[in-house]
Amino acid sequence: MTDWHVLSSEAALTQLDADPAQGLSPEVIERRRTESGSNELKDTGGRSPWTILWEQLRGAMILLLVVAAVVSVVLHEYTDAIVILAIVVLNALLGFGQEYRAEKAMAALKQLSVPIVRVRRGGQVREISARELVPGDIVLLEVGNHVPADCRLLESVNLKVQEAALTGESEPVEKQTARLVEPDLPLGDRANCVFVGTLVTYGHGIGLVTEIGMKTQLGQIARSLQTVEAEPTPLQTRLAQLGRMLALAALGIVAIVFVMGLLSGETPRLMLMTALSLAVAVVPEGLPAVATVALALGARRMFQRNALIRKLPAVETLGSVTVICSDKTGTLTENRMTVTALDVAGNRIDLPETLSHGHPMGKLNSDSGIVDVRGTVAHSSSLSLLLAGAALCNDAELVVESNREIIRAIGDPTEGALVLAAAQLHLPIDKLLNVLPRVDELPFDSDRKRMTTVHEWSAADRDDLEPTLRSALENIRGISSHRIAFTKGAVDSLLLVSDHVWNSDELQPMDENWRNRISQANEELAGMGMRVLGVAFRPLPDAGENLHINSVEEGLTFIGLLAMIDPARPEVEEAVHRCRQAGIRPIMITGDHPLTAQYIAGELGISKDGQVLSGQDLENMSDSELRSVVDSVSVFARVAPKHKLRLVKALQENGEVVAMTGDGVNDAPALKQAHIGVAMGITGTDVAKESSQMVLLDDNFATIVNAIEEGRKVYDNVRKFVKYTMTSNAGEIWVMILGPLLGMPLPLLPLQILWVNLVTDGLPGLALAVEKSERGTMTRPPHPPREAILGRRMGIDIAWIGLLMGIVSLLMGYLEWSAGDSSEAHWRTVIFTVLTFSQMGNALAIRSEHESLFQLGIFSNPAMLASVALTFGLQMAVIYWPPLQSIFKTAPLSGIELLSCLALSTLVFCSVEIQKLILQWRERTKQSREPD
Ligand code: ADP
Ligand code: MG
Repeated sequence: MTDWHVLSSEAALTQLDADPAQGLSPEVIERRRTESGSNELKDTGGRSPWTILWEQLRGAMILLLVVAAVVSVVLHEYTDAIVILAIVVLNALLGFGQEYRAEKAMAALKQLSVPIVRVRRGGQVREISARELVPGDIVLLEVGNHVPADCRLLESVNLKVQEAALTGESEPVEKQTARLVEPDLPLGDRANCVFVGTLVTYGHGIGLVTEIGMKTQLGQIARSLQTVEAEPTPLQTRLAQLGRMLALAALGIVAIVFVMGLLSGETPRLMLMTALSLAVAVVPEGLPAVATVALALGARRMFQRNALIRKLPAVETLGSVTVICSDKTGTLTENRMTVTALDVAGNRIDLPETLSHGHPMGKLNSDSGIVDVRGTVAHSSSLSLLLAGAALCNDAELVVESNREIIRAIGDPTEGALVLAAAQLHLPIDKLLNVLPRVDELPFDSDRKRMTTVHEWSAADRDDLEPTLRSALENIRGISSHRIAFTKGAVDSLLLVSDHVWNSDELQPMDENWRNRISQANEELAGMGMRVLGVAFRPLPDAGENLHINSVEEGLTFIGLLAMIDPARPEVEEAVHRCRQAGIRPIMITGDHPLTAQYIAGELGISKDGQVLSGQDLENMSDSELRSVVDSVSVFARVAPKHKLRLVKALQENGEVVAMTGDGVNDAPALKQAHIGVAMGITGTDVAKESSQMVLLDDNFATIVNAIEEGRKVYDNVRKFVKYTMTSNAGEIWVMILGPLLGMPLPLLPLQILWVNLVTDGLPGLALAVEKSERGTMTRPPHPPREAILGRRMGIDIAWIGLLMGIVSLLMGYLEWSAGDSSEAHWRTVIFTVLTFSQMGNALAIRSEHESLFQLGIFSNPAMLASVALTFGLQMAVIYWPPLQSIFKTAPLSGIELLSCLALSTLVFCSVEIQKLILQWRERTKQSREPD
């Protein structure tokens, strides 16, 4: 293997036959792809179908069934043995089908999380999936990127990379491009190379892909970063606990039934089989599996609604979120910035709104000279300098489409708006850069809230420049020499480092008067909901005098400010309203000015009281003070990412379940800390995505709310499933216990118990998992994350409905048995049938916790109807089809009997429905008594 770090970048390029300006050609890419395969680490996560099948077969229930089958063989009950094995197979297949579907759904979601990279190919920059990279590709690395392959660096602008995944070192490492001599350097010291699995935390650079896939350093240590967390979710854990508890209870119950049977004179062999069957009935094997399936299917539905789940437990946690901390820019607003006002030396100029992003812009006129927009904007030298500074200190690019009719900016929308505005006012960025090429930079970060670029006077023809700008620049050159720095950023943060103002083509000291005027203009614009940026410059001494880039941002000369609007997303107001109804508090967090934040928060209904806390306020607060204010304040402005972490912690200490959004590298700690870290899919960095549990594919706040709804639904449906199976099981147990207590022989035979338990109550149970969300899902408070599975009345319901089911099922059979005029097979068939029918009624009634089946719509869950119909048909076959009759030892019922069974079994359905009506009625009277 080549030691790439000892090669000069030219040598590396030659070796890979690559051209940094052009990138690889399509033919070469094609060839290399066939040679080296795709850039993927071998997947160590995910379960194979065989594993899934094996897991199905190794559960306690299957074990019990197999024991039962063996016992049957020993007792020469061969039919029983075959039927039991058939049931084993059927069950395993059913379970396998479900889990396989779930696994597939998760695998599909995982595929979607592969990062996108920017590469230079065929002379153009393109965005491709990291999987498609080949050796020799030229990749552009930016802050927040996941390094997509091992690369030799060709360019590094303050590039810093966090390599903890590979070296364990959590401090970011500075990168450079010069060749290194020592061949055996440890990875952490190969400063001219970057490796897959590491993260760009600062600056940017260009890399030449040297190794991909399993050949990378990461691939060699064969540690996949892509594995999905397989740890069980809290719900799964609790279900498993519940399962174990029930299994213990089962042992007790089974023992009781066994002894009672023997006492009432049944044969030990019959009682042994009965005990085994009953054990199968009581062990709630399906519980954890159902949760897995429901969670995975929930994740898929969330994806259809633009929320990509990265970690399965998030599906469940989403259901109990009580606070959503959301970024403003891009999540609550559209991130479609449009410059609408300029302010220089206290003179405000409003721009028409036609200067907006990505819209037809009219012809881009290349004449220079005085421009007149709506007759109000005349270029002054200050104005031109303001716009030029804003456009130069900028990473956005302009693209001109369709015959120069439409121009668009690509890059950060804030910056895009500035370049666009400059271009509109005849200061196109390419011309500016001709005259003033960038030689150094200090990137924007949300702590400083500033960005600086350094430019050098080139020899290019300056006559090409807009005349007022030319004169401004000549003036500045008169003051000093060679280089000029432009800084843009939040106005308050710029004022901290400015000591002059540019007015009437000269430097004037920044006195109180100026300071006030600027702050006032800033506040006035921010108060109208606009994002305001200031621009300043600093003439720099010659390069020789060596001023370090880090100390450029001081002694600046303030030029003026630009304000842009970023409209609120139309759907967010409604989403905020839904949050409130659902007992969830939305909180806005932004780096923008408090007044801007307040305006948008008011508009969206996030806060009406105008309370805003700034990052500065937070700095001055102790953790306990913060804890007491986060309960009432919902808008936080001028915050830096580190404040986000404190906010999350404070909220969590108050017992809230917090979802927190973020996009930048610095947001990662807060995203990790939150119960649900939510990364932006469009503007988010790989770092943010990697630290998150969920990615918003459309960056939209409303999507979080939709995901919460899905999360609540999943939780509800799992609860319904638990309730349904446990009630059914309870019913079976009561039949088996009450019968002998009443002096009857065994009320149900072993195979009948197995049938009821595994077939008739299995199918409707699965249909519950696809139940739609209830009408009340988003109008009730979130469920507490630690809520017991059987909480909220469910335990009680299971107890009484189970008992009722037991009594109803026994009733008619008992009467027939005590009258003494019907055969054993006959009265057992009656009990067996009423029990099955009661369970069907229960399945239908249990679909909603609050609404009656008729309010819900009988046909609104077709899967449920189908499974009830199928179960009914199967039951008919067992009663009336001779081969099954002989297996299950049933006797045909007369029409009247069948109808009576049906009628009797509706008792369970009716009771559950009546309970819901009573609850509804109580709810209504409670509401009317306490109007709010
Ligand atoms: P938000 O959380 O709302 O996105 P940011 O932290 O990105 O806020 O920005 C905070 C402030 O920093 C903005 O109000 C603006 O004044 C300034 N700012 C934003 N983007 C840039 C940029 N690219 N260059 C310079 N200043 C910026
Ligand atoms: Mg931002």
